[in-house]
Amino acid sequence: MSDIVANLAAIRARIDAACARAGRPAGSVTLVAVSKTHPQEAVVEALAAGQLVFGENRVQEAQAKFPGLRAAHPAMRLHIIGGLQTNKARDAVRVADVIETIDRPKLAAAIAEAMAKEGRRPDCLVQVNTGDESQKSGVSRAEADAFIRAARDEYGLPVTGLMCIPPVDQDPRPHFAWLRDLAAKHGLPVVSMGMSADFEIAIEEGATLVRVGTAIFGHRPAPA
Ligand SMILES: *Cc1c(COP(=O)(O)O)cnc(C)c1O
Repeated sequence: MSDIVANLAAIRARIDAACARAGRPAGSVTLVAVSKTHPQEAVVEALAAGQLVFGENRVQEAQAKFPGLRAAHPAMRLHIIGGLQTNKARDAVRVADVIETIDRPKLAAAIAEAMAKEGRRPDCLVQVNTGDESQKSGVSRAEADAFIRAARDEYGLPVTGLMCIPPVDQDPRPHFAWLRDLAAKHGLPVVSMGMSADFEIAIEEGATLVRVGTAIFGHRPAPA
């Protein structure tokens, strides 16, 4: 068995165990396998092991890797999980099934316009910068309520949930709990939080999507 197949099985078992511990039904959490920087062959191996949901942080890389696989795997789903430039909105709408990183009015407007042009409406998540870190994308805590409403009501985006990446140097649990509560307040069913290092904590706090890369595909080469 390849590492990827074995790793996927191990992560699925840990997700199921975390659901059981949290008193949540098995299957209430979707695993997004984050394949960024890894070659298409890695995605093909994961598909062969039954993994259908993938995450990429760069639109260009997603365009290179995924469209060719869809014919053979029509049920596969691609999540864009990286910060988006407005000039990439149209490509993102073309390639993605879910865009997890809506975080500012300009981008919401560009995505809405791209949806109208493409006749395609991928689900959208609002990314919240729960740590209010200056270098990180995501709407600030203070502006989150107003922006979620605007994304839905002004820009007409199909917003289904929220996403966050807590600060690396803090206990993620309070960030996860805060995001879950904010999603509930807005009646949003999808809560995307938790990565390789903390997805079990995220599940205990209500994640419905966990985004796991390294623990499935191995370490990524350092960025150039
Ligand atoms: C890379 C990435 C992940 C996966 O991180 P790992 O620590 O490798 O599991 C999850 N979410 C986002 C937004 C990412 O960019």
